[in-house]
Amino acid sequence: MSYHVVDMTDPSELQPVLHSKHAKNLLRFLHLLPARMSSHDNTRSTIVFFAVCGLDVLNSLHLISPQLRKDIIDWTYGGLVVPRENEKRRGGFMGCRAMLPQTEDAELLECMRQYQWGHLAMTYTSIAVLVTLGDDLSRLNRQSIVEGVAAVQHADGSFSASIDGSENDMRFVYCAATICHMLDCWDGVNKEAMFQFIMRSLRYDYGFSQELEGESHGGTTFCALAALELSGQLHRLDETTVERIKRWLVFRQMDGFQGRPNKPVDTCYSFWIGAALRILNGFELTDYAQNREYILSTQDELIGGFAKWPKSTPDPFHTYLGLCGLAFIGEPGLSAVMPSLNISMAAYVHLNQLHERWRANSSGLTHDLTQLKLSVGSSAEAATKTTSSSPLISAQ
Ligand SMILES: [Zn+2]
Repeated sequence: MSYHVVDMTDPSELQPVLHSKHAKNLLRFLHLLPARMSSHDNTRSTIVFFAVCGLDVLNSLHLISPQLRKDIIDWTYGGLVVPRENEKRRGGFMGCRAMLPQTEDAELLECMRQYQWGHLAMTYTSIAVLVTLGDDLSRLNRQSIVEGVAAVQHADGSFSASIDGSENDMRFVYCAATICHMLDCWDGVNKEAMFQFIMRSLRYDYGFSQELEGESHGGTTFCALAALELSGQLHRLDETTVERIKRWLVFRQMDGFQGRPNKPVDTCYSFWIGAALRILNGFELTDYAQNREYILSTQDELIGGFAKWPKSTPDPFHTYLGLCGLAFIGEPGLSAVMPSLNISMAAYVHLNQLHERWRANSSGLTHDLTQLKLSVGSSAEAATKTTSSSPLISAQ
């Protein structure tokens, strides 16, 4: 394998990335969900995440009109579960609105309330969407959301997705770390136990598995390394371990990347493996040209978007992660991506500005709690409150 970068000086020899088609494709998912994807309705927040963040990486957020942007922000906040006094463990975002019937029937509303709680993946993607759209997160009670994260941590350090019970594995360790990092609050979360769970999942071949005694996996290895970085614990890996993990990751490249040995390559692993190597500063060990060629082989030239394999149906998940994979190799016209949070660097800069603001106000959490008390019982008023002051979207 030759290790050389894409020669960007002669773009005529390269298959072009169809930026405007990808933007149009992603924009469409912000208006409707095709019937073939109706089973994804309960995780609609993730589709909004892929579409909004994909438009961001394409430098095309300006295609989202001010009204649509406000609608997306309001819709996202609409999934926020604000716990009552006796519901402390429920904080977070829901992925869909099926448990929020449009009715005045108090008895029915109270009944549905029993089924409303945050889900870690939906909370992560919802906050990421808000940050990417330039919202200032002032409608959030950060502490109540992190209480919801702490509530689903297990004694072995892993996390479930929600309080009603689910698998507990590295995916939700990652989501927990993203939420706490983005909200700049780890209260009640046992970072040491989380670290121990991650390290117990490091396998003999130096990939990470989803849970104890599992098989090493590219997506899981990204989740493990990103969680370590976001929780400020990446430095606890010794140099030999880091080099061996890099080796496992680099060996996942065929032309594109595979998730496990002896598995076919797939566009999304250009992100999972690429981002993991970015976190370990080892991405330059990969073959950029072959990576690009594979991703481009899955590009739909008619309707835009990327699929997992050539000649397959594109979807928002592989479209976004394919774009991120291209951003890692410096594809012109794409914005830089922050690997461990999986949002653009522009969004990450905005997030850091929010952190500085929160830290400057040492009583920030107390202030948030006051806000929460004010907003309980007046959710309609909260829904119309404008909290966005986007530095990211240029005027139409
Ligand atoms: Zn895939």
